Amino acid sequence: MTLMVLFRTRLEWCNYTCHYCPWNANEIRVESDAFRDDEARLNRIIERVAGLSQRPVEFFITPKAEYLVLPYWRDAVRRLSALPHVRRVTVQTNLAWDVASFLPTVDVNKLALWTTYHPTEVDAFGLEALHVKWEALRSAGVRFSVGIVGTRDNLDAMDALRRRLPPDVYLWVNAYKREGAYYTSHERQRIRTIDPYFDLNDQIFPSLGQPCTAGSHAVYLDDEGDLRRCFFVGKVIGNLFRDGWQTLPAPTSCPIATCHCYVGHMHVVELDFRAVYGDNLAVRIPRRAED
Ligand code: SF4
Ligand code: SF4
Repeated sequence: MTLMVLFRTRLEWCNYTCHYCPWNANEIRVESDAFRDDEARLNRIIERVAGLSQRPVEFFITPKAEYLVLPYWRDAVRRLSALPHVRRVTVQTNLAWDVASFLPTVDVNKLALWTTYHPTEVDAFGLEALHVKWEALRSAGVRFSVGIVGTRDNLDAMDALRRRLPPDVYLWVNAYKREGAYYTSHERQRIRTIDPYFDLNDQIFPSLGQPCTAGSHAVYLDDEGDLRRCFFVGKVIGNLFRDGWQTLPAPTSCPIATCHCYVGHMHVVELDFRAVYGDNLAVRIPRRAED
């Protein structure tokens, strides 16, 4: 079985200033040394992964907050996806980088992109450029989804995006959970017409004691090589440099009260996201009826 590796480094940096995000560029400033250190730690991880050829893995790179704008990260994705035992590399990105130049340099069959649109960060010209990038991904056969945060202010942009994107491109809407009982029933209904899986996302799952495949089918890898079940459970279960891909032998109950978002929900046995998303679980593309 291919192990899903959720990976992020300690770098917290983004080029955008989305007000709904704690990692926006207004809040977080990073010294140039931090990028050099990040590149060095990243290289060390890739070299170690290259040497662990016995176990097939897929990477799901989930930054805090944008990596692919950085050339050394694009190079890292290229190098990871060139490894025979790395089956796929999925990356969350706002696409604010040169997609057309990157695609010819990477194995497009292994690349997958969870792309996001942030209306406050992209003017009309920028939105046209985004559509050109999505079309380039489509033409190249790259798996990708498009997402938007479901704030009230974003709902008109959500509708416009759905009208403009090809019907076969899945548009998901991330539930805004910072304020309890945020949505009216009309708003909820409106979002469901765009994203039929919105309700799956719009939940805080009571996970304590519930079986979860995080740790057995998937692990969270940090830039020290430490392996944990997921982003939310702090206990280290092994280290990549010392132990290789150390995992738990079977799905295990969750030790914390609640599980909040897609990157956690995707592992919960009861929620069974595999049935909805199949092999495109990391890139968040639901199966079609004919799959
Ligand atoms: S693009 Fe994503 S990571 Fe960057 S500020 Fe906006 S929400 Fe946060
Ligand atoms: S239920 Fe969520 S928080 Fe608990 S172990 Fe699974 S992924 Fe982690």
